[in-house]
Amino acid sequence: MSVKIAKNSGFCFGVKRAIKIAFEASHSVDNIITLGPIIHNPQMVEKLAEEGIVSVNNLNEINGRPTIIRSHGIKKETLQQLKAGNINIINATCPYVSKTQEYGEQLSREGYTVIILGDKDHPEVEALRSYVEGDVRIVGTADELPTRQYDRVGIICQTTRNIKDLQELGQKLIPLCREIRIVNTICNATTVRQASTIELAKESDLMIVIGGKNSSNTKMLAKISENYVETYHIETEREIEEKWFENRSRIGITAGASTPDWIIVEVYNKILKCMGNIDKIVENIEDIPGFKEE
Ligand code: SF4
Repeated sequence: MSVKIAKNSGFCFGVKRAIKIAFEASHSVDNIITLGPIIHNPQMVEKLAEEGIVSVNNLNEINGRPTIIRSHGIKKETLQQLKAGNINIINATCPYVSKTQEYGEQLSREGYTVIILGDKDHPEVEALRSYVEGDVRIVGTADELPTRQYDRVGIICQTTRNIKDLQELGQKLIPLCREIRIVNTICNATTVRQASTIELAKESDLMIVIGGKNSSNTKMLAKISENYVETYHIETEREIEEKWFENRSRIGITAGASTPDWIIVEVYNKILKCMGNIDKIVENIEDIPGFKEE
């Protein structure tokens, strides 16, 4: 019997950075808030609230308080409103997200119709869209794009999409455009997490994907894993059911880029308990077999 974790599971660079910025700021600034959850993980957001960093959902709730911008960024006009209101802004937007926003702005200024591959209701995509100054379309897959002639098209993606969807969109558009620019803005943290998940799913007879139910990159890991093996997407160990492990001997676990280490460790230990293997219980994520940060 084995329980292994996919390489590169858990916090990515951008999330670690955002959490560090938030905690550091909370030591030097009072009454700090985040505009929207700082990352898409309810348990981490709760932990920050315990430290006094609460999350508000709109500008009316800020009441002049110092404001942390979440890792996935905010709309350009919202940022302008914060500046106009002389709010102390602590920007924890991931640099890769900022870079994608710059590409959106630049392509539109150069006259391209911008096509964003992403989830139109996701805050990152809503923010990204606000940086595009001209014609813009948001599609979740190539199938959602109307088949007609386009002139000059620039494609950018939500940082957590997968490369296959981008390839399909490019393939569909090439015969339909006079000129096309594809900027692969899928972040490397996403790519390596997806590849490691596939690698482990192929050798497992059950996969557990850990992360916020509102986390785009975690949902994508679950979707990918389901292509290979039975998969459960959970937020915490409390959702685990013992019967999942009956007649299974190779369990794989993976976690989204916004899933804290302590939750992953709790899930791993709970799986061991379900499988009657408590002598291998661990305290740190580094002790879980297969863990490796690249
Ligand atoms: S997944 Fe990538 S783009 Fe998103 S926060 Fe992490 S490092 Fe940044």
